[in-house]
Amino acid sequence: MSNWVYGFGAGQADGRADMRELLGGKGANLAEMANLGLPVPPGFTLTTEVCNAYIGRDRAYPEGLEAEVAKALSAVEKSVGRKFGEAENPLLVSVRSGGRASMPGMMDTVLNLGLNDQTVEGLAAGGGDARFAWDSYRRFMMMYSDVVLGLDHIGFDDIIEHHKLENGVVLDTDLDAANWKAVVADFEAHVEGELGEPFPQDVHAQLWDAIGAVFGSWMNRRAVTYRRLNQIPEDWGTAVNIQAMVFGNMGETSATGVAFTRDPSTGAKEFFGEYLVNAQGEDVVAGIRTPHHITLAAKNRNGSDTPAMEEVMPEVYGELVEIYRKLESHYRDMQDIEFTVENGKLWMLQTRAGKRTAKAALHIAVAMVEEGLIDETEAVRRLDPASLDQLLHPTLDPEAPRDVLATGLPASPGAASGKIVFHADDAEARSAKGESVILVRIETSPEDIHGMHAAAGILTCRGGMTSHAAVVARGMGRPCVSGAGTIRVDLKAGHFTVAGRTFRAGDVITIDGVKGQVMAGEVPTIQPELSGDFGIVMVWTDRIRRLKVRTNAETPLDAHAAREFGAEGIGLCRTEHMFFDAERIVAVREMILADHEAGRRAALAKLLPMQRRDFVELFKIMRGLPVTIRLLDPPLHEFLPHSDAEIEEVAAAAGARPEDLRARAADLFEVNPMLGHRGCRLGISHPEIYEMQARAIFEAAIEMGRSGEAVLLEIMIPLVATRREFDILKDRVDAVAEAVFAETGARTGYLVGTMIELPRAALRAGDIAETAEFFSFGTNDLTQTTMGISRDDSGNFLDDYLTNGIFDIDPFVSIDVEGVGELVKIAVERGRKTRPDLKLGICGEHGGDPASVRFFHEAGLDYVSASPYRVPIARLAAARAALDERENDA
Ligand code: ADP
Ligand code: MG
Ligand code: MG
Repeated sequence: MSNWVYGFGAGQADGRADMRELLGGKGANLAEMANLGLPVPPGFTLTTEVCNAYIGRDRAYPEGLEAEVAKALSAVEKSVGRKFGEAENPLLVSVRSGGRASMPGMMDTVLNLGLNDQTVEGLAAGGGDARFAWDSYRRFMMMYSDVVLGLDHIGFDDIIEHHKLENGVVLDTDLDAANWKAVVADFEAHVEGELGEPFPQDVHAQLWDAIGAVFGSWMNRRAVTYRRLNQIPEDWGTAVNIQAMVFGNMGETSATGVAFTRDPSTGAKEFFGEYLVNAQGEDVVAGIRTPHHITLAAKNRNGSDTPAMEEVMPEVYGELVEIYRKLESHYRDMQDIEFTVENGKLWMLQTRAGKRTAKAALHIAVAMVEEGLIDETEAVRRLDPASLDQLLHPTLDPEAPRDVLATGLPASPGAASGKIVFHADDAEARSAKGESVILVRIETSPEDIHGMHAAAGILTCRGGMTSHAAVVARGMGRPCVSGAGTIRVDLKAGHFTVAGRTFRAGDVITIDGVKGQVMAGEVPTIQPELSGDFGIVMVWTDRIRRLKVRTNAETPLDAHAAREFGAEGIGLCRTEHMFFDAERIVAVREMILADHEAGRRAALAKLLPMQRRDFVELFKIMRGLPVTIRLLDPPLHEFLPHSDAEIEEVAAAAGARPEDLRARAADLFEVNPMLGHRGCRLGISHPEIYEMQARAIFEAAIEMGRSGEAVLLEIMIPLVATRREFDILKDRVDAVAEAVFAETGARTGYLVGTMIELPRAALRAGDIAETAEFFSFGTNDLTQTTMGISRDDSGNFLDDYLTNGIFDIDPFVSIDVEGVGELVKIAVERGRKTRPDLKLGICGEHGGDPASVRFFHEAGLDYVSASPYRVPIARLAAARAALDERENDA
C-alpha cells in the first residue's frame, strides 16, 4: 500500500468506511462497498493529504505521486481489460471529487476522460455503437471544458441547439452518431477559437489537469461559500477518485439513477428514487430530462404514465433492492445511492448517509430504534439540533383559501411566502434588507447556493426530487417546489407567466413544499405542535441531558408555547416588554417624564395593578416551575414619546403642560443609551420603580400561594457592575418583601440574583456572590461590552469580518468561546468558590444556539434559557453535549 493512493474494486480495497478523513466520504464508501463484495467499477483514491500538499505547495504535486498513480491506473487497466489512451479498447475513467463531509454538487466531476479523436473510434468499435461513443465524447468535452478549461457551457449548448434545429429534432436523444460527430467537430473548433489551442488529445495530460482542477475546485467561490455556511474547515481538503467508467448511455438496456433507502422527505420506510434509460449520471441530477420513478408503488402513487424501473428492468431492480437492503443494514442508516446499469449489468457508484428533512430524520431515528438497528443514544447522537428549526415553524393554514397557480414536486417541506426574485444575487440583496423572497429559477446550480440560503423558499420549473434544488433545499431546511413545468420564466422580461397570468419580480407568491403548490399572494399560517416522533425523541434527550432548559418569555402566549415545547421554567421575563401595550405606554411615559418623585409614584400606582395581573397570569402558566423576573432594564429612550400627539396624550394623563414634557424628554436624551441610564442604574436613581415592581411580584406570588400554587421566585437585577449596586437594590427588594408579608400575613420564598453582563461583574463574581443568590449570564450585553461591538450597529461591518475570516461566525449568534466564554468561566469559578450552591444560568440569545449550548454545558452551568421556539433545539443540543462528554470521558 502506498502513501498517496488507495485502490478499490473487485471485492477488495485498501481503504475502509471509517477512513473518510483521508479518503473523503465518497472514496471511503467506494472502498467499503468493494469490501462488501458489491459491484463497484475499479478505481483508486488520491487522498485529502494530496489536496493539502497540492494547495500548500502552490499547486505542485507531492513527490512519488506520479508513480503511485501510474501503478494504480495499470491495476485498473488489468482489472477491466482495457488500456488508458489506447485506440483499441480504450479505458475511460471518471475523475470525481469527494471531501470528508458531503458537499452535494459543490465540487466538480469529469466523466468519460480518456477520449480523444482516436479513442472515440475505438470505443465505437468496441461497444459496437457509434452513437454512444460520439455522445460520450461530446459529454466529456463539455464537462472537461467547463471544469478544467474554464469555458462556459452556453457556447456548447448553442452548438447542440443549432444541430437540433438543422436536423429538425427536439430531443438530444434524437440526434444520431453522425450528428454527434458533427457536433464534436464544431466543439473542437469552438474550443480552439476560444483558447487558441486545440482540445487536449493527450489522455495523460487530460488526467493530470482534471486532477488539478478538482483539487483546485476546493478553493472556488461556491465551495468556499458552502464551507462557510456549514462550518467546514478549509484544511479538511478533498480527495479525488479515479474510477473506470461504466456506461448508462449505451442504449435501451442501460440506465442511470439515484435512490434513497427510505423516503428523505417523510422518513417512511419505502425505497425511493429516480432513473433514466440511456443516460449518464449527471442527467438525473441536473434536471435536463425529468426522470422516472424506480418503484411501481411510487409511480402509481404519483399517477405517472412513464414506466417504472421495476417494470422495465425487473431483474436489475431485484438486484438493486437486495443491495440497498444490505447497505442500509450494514451502515445502520438511511443511504443515498447512485447506480448505473450498463447493458443490463448493475454497478454501484456511490453510497452515503442520505440527507433528509428534520421530519424524516426524527421518523427514521424512531423507526430504527424500534427495528433494533440502533439504540436511543445513537439516535440522539445523529440528530442535528439546528435542523429541528424546520419543524418549529408555521405551516400553511389548511382552512385558508389558496389561489393555486401551479403544482410541482414537493421537493422540500415547509411553506414560505415572499417576493419573487429571479437571481441569487437579488435574493441575497433583498433578504439582507429584511425582505422575505422566493427564489424562482428554471433550475438551480451550485452558483445559486448563496441565493438559496438567503431566500425563504425556492421554486424551479425543471428538475426532479433529487435535482440540485431539491437536495440543497432539504439540506438547508428551505421549503422548495421543483419541476413546476407550467410556469414559464422569462428572465429577460423579468417575469413569469402561468395559466395566462403574469407575475413580475417583487410580486408576492407562496409555496407549499409539502403539497408542491405555488400560490398567488400570501397564505396565512398556523403554529406547529410537538407530537409523534418529535415527542418520543424529546423524551430521549431529557433522559440524557444534564443542563436544564428554560425559556425567555413574558407574554402568556410565549409562556404557553414554551411549556408545550418542554421549557422547565422561565429564565428571563423582561418586565419592560410588558409596558409596550397601548393602554400602558402612556402611564410608563408619564412615569419617565415626571421630574419629581411624587409624579413618578402617581404613574407607578397606575402600573402596579397591571404588573400584578401579568405576574399572576405568568405564575399560573408556569405553575411549580422557577420564574426569573428581571426588574426594569432598558434604555429609557425606548419609551420616550416621539410625536407631538404622543406628548399631548401623556400631558393629558399626567395633568402636565406639553412644553414641559417636551423639555424633559430633551433632557433625557442620551448619546449612547446602551451604556447610559439603564438597568440597575435606574433602580439606584429612582428607587420607587423597582419598589413598585417588587411589590407587584410579591403580591402576585402571595395571591398564587393562597390558591395553593407555589411559585419558585427569582428576582433579577440587571446590568450590575459592582457588589455595592447589587447590595443597595437587594436590600430594597427585601424591604418590600417584608412589607408585603406584614400587610398580607403570608410569606413566600424567593431568591435575589443578578445578571452577569458586564466584564467587571464577571471578574468580581466572587465578591458579588457574597450576596447574590444566583447569576444569569446576559450574553447579548456581555458580548457587546466585552468586544465593544454595538449590537445595533454591528450589521454595518460584521459581513466584512466574516468574509475576511476575522470571525468564523457572528458572535451574537454563537458565543465567542475564547473571549466572552473565558469571562463566563471566570465568573462561574469565582462565584461558586464563594457560594458553592450558586445557581447559574444563561439567558442571552445564545441559549438557543447548539454550539453555545455545548459550551455552557462544558462550563458547568445549571440551565440555559432560550426563546420558546428554540427550546427543543436547546434540549437536543444539551443531550448531544452530554453524550459527547461521556464519550470523551470513556
Ligand atoms: P457528485 O458528488 O456531484 O454526485 P459524482 O462524482 O458522484 O459527483 O459524479 C457525478 C455523476 O457521475 C454521478 O451521477 C455519478 O454516478 C456519475 N459517475 C461518476 N463516476 C462514474 C463512473 N465511473 N461511471 C459512470 N458514472 C459515473
Ligand atoms: Mg454523486
Ligand atoms: Mg442586558
